[in-house]
Amino acid sequence: MRKVGIVRDSRFLEHDPGPGHPESPARLEAIYQAMDKASLPGLVDVDTREAEFEELAWNHHPDYVKRIFNTASVERFQLDPDTATSRGSCTAARLAVGGLLNALELVDKGDIGSAFALVRPPGHHAEYDAAMGFCLFNNVAVAAHYARRVLGYRRVLIVDWDLHHGNGTQRSFYEDPAVLYFSTHQYPYYPGTGAVEELGRGEAKGKTVNVPLGAGARDGDFIFIFKEILIPVANFFRPDLILVSAGFDVYEGDPLGGMRVTINGFGRMAAVLLHLADSLCNGRIVFTLEGGYHLQGLAGGVVEVLKACSRDGRTWDAEDAPSPGVAAVVEQVKRVLGAYYPDLAQGYR
Ligand SMILES: [Zn+2]
Repeated sequence: MRKVGIVRDSRFLEHDPGPGHPESPARLEAIYQAMDKASLPGLVDVDTREAEFEELAWNHHPDYVKRIFNTASVERFQLDPDTATSRGSCTAARLAVGGLLNALELVDKGDIGSAFALVRPPGHHAEYDAAMGFCLFNNVAVAAHYARRVLGYRRVLIVDWDLHHGNGTQRSFYEDPAVLYFSTHQYPYYPGTGAVEELGRGEAKGKTVNVPLGAGARDGDFIFIFKEILIPVANFFRPDLILVSAGFDVYEGDPLGGMRVTINGFGRMAAVLLHLADSLCNGRIVFTLEGGYHLQGLAGGVVEVLKACSRDGRTWDAEDAPSPGVAAVVEQVKRVLGAYYPDLAQGYR
């Protein structure tokens, strides 16, 4: 049994993007209730704190950070067609980042084995100078900066299994060889980025790995992709930390997406990443909530990930045949990225 840190705060519920919005406070309420009901052993509460201006400015333009801070004084501010704030949004967004940084700190010290930041608003669409797709600050991107600047880690792997491509995270590290961004996502789909050929620039070429998928990918497809691409890429990169943009909108019943992942599938996907963390970086892994709009699928998926984090024996069950479309995408990714990863052609052995 390993201790699992949980970032949880009722102030996350005070970010209200407007009536009928899918990214509603009910999402975290469902997760918190499911966690309490499951009464999982080994969970440790992580204190939250508001991220500092300077920390946010590691990843965002200072004028943009100021702009978000200013939204705290108004009832509602529309940042983009999908993204609006209420009075509590700025505080929630700062707590989301700060809570994640605290979790990272505790994982670094070894006080907890892993952590899950159950926060909102989500972050992976947030750009350097713009809010986008329900996201204000890029939680995971700021955490990767923190890991390098404050904790002194040399290499950070970000795994993004959200339905959508994390355009903001990709942009943040597109020319930074110390942060590897790996994303599976429905494609073509919102936000439009995430083609295989987007693979980083300059010294960071090959450090962005996109696996764009048609609708309908199932549990076994994701496990196959992780085994065939992520594991060899991660083994070559040798990260000091794994950050996960955990989106549950790949769930089979999600109203925004077309993927077919089951609740059990999320535990299996997490098990692959936990295995990687154990073998490469002393178990250091921190999950952060991104999307997920089917409340039962979201809450059930989070509970499965937490069970996997406590190492209760859950595995990914290695025998999975991929669907033909997914196998073709995997071959394409291997062709395009093979030049940067000598072992990629072999996959997981
Ligand atoms: Zn999403």
